[in-house]
Amino acid sequence: MSEKQVFSVGDVVKMKKAHPCGSFEWEITRTGMDFGLKCKGCEHAVMLPRQKFEKAVKEIVK
Ligand SMILES: [Zn+2]
Repeated sequence: MSEKQVFSVGDVVKMKKAHPCGSFEWEITRTGMDFGLKCKGCEHAVMLPRQKFEKAVKEIVK
């Protein structure tokens, strides 16, 4: 995705790789230097540095 892509808390994003639970979709719970994400499949929560997050995202679902 473009580095100029704007992400907001509450957005649902689709990742390039599936979570072990089988879901590709995550909800953004925090933005900034680090991004907070919650898996839509199993509700597992993670924190990722922005750069790593941007490389892992395929598209914004909503
Ligand atoms: Zn999951």
